[in-house]
Amino acid sequence: MKDIAEFIVGFKRFQERYFSEDRDLFERLGRGQRPQAMIVACADSRVDPALLTGAAPGDVFVVRNVANLVPPYERGGSFASVPAALEFAVLSLGVEHIIVLGHAQCGGIHALMSGASTRGEFIGKWVGIAQRARERVLAELPAKPRALQERACEQASILVSLENLMTYPWIAQRVVAGTVHLHGWYFDISEGDLLCYNPARNAFEPVAADSPDPPGSTS
Ligand SMILES: [Zn+2]
Repeated sequence: MKDIAEFIVGFKRFQERYFSEDRDLFERLGRGQRPQAMIVACADSRVDPALLTGAAPGDVFVVRNVANLVPPYERGGSFASVPAALEFAVLSLGVEHIIVLGHAQCGGIHALMSGASTRGEFIGKWVGIAQRARERVLAELPAKPRALQERACEQASILVSLENLMTYPWIAQRVVAGTVHLHGWYFDISEGDLLCYNPARNAFEPVAADSPDPPGSTS
């Protein structure tokens, strides 16, 4: 684990190498951003969306939270971090893709599956957004080992977030019009694999490294 002073050293290294070697990029980014994609990712320290996708500064608009969840549309919702990020990305930046990026060994989904004992003051209510996913998994895989149920719930919760994205009228309109595309991705940490949701087969499928296109999107 890094000492915090090493982060400052890391930033100096960023200035010397990355920033100095690509001044044109940062000069352009200084005038504004035009990312084509938004990623909803987990706050987990092991799942850095820019690192995993090879995205450069300016490429992806990111919101991160516990268990990469999108709450359903709620008129006048207070302290609505994710809706505010979606609103800005879709209506102001005009992103064309929204990717919900889930992952294996997710602590938030573990809390959801474990019940009240590990949920804390705020986490329980938050991960309850994916309660539907928990119920689906327990109904479909009642006798399976907990690890397998949690993996299924990690993937099912991505689908709940995709469903919830469609409750935002200005997202649903754009998905129907074909100007915004929704994607569910799952990062398998220990295997180093990326699985993409294929709605035609209702399954998360590996994406080949030499394939530019994921196997499917919800639109
Ligand atoms: Zn997580």
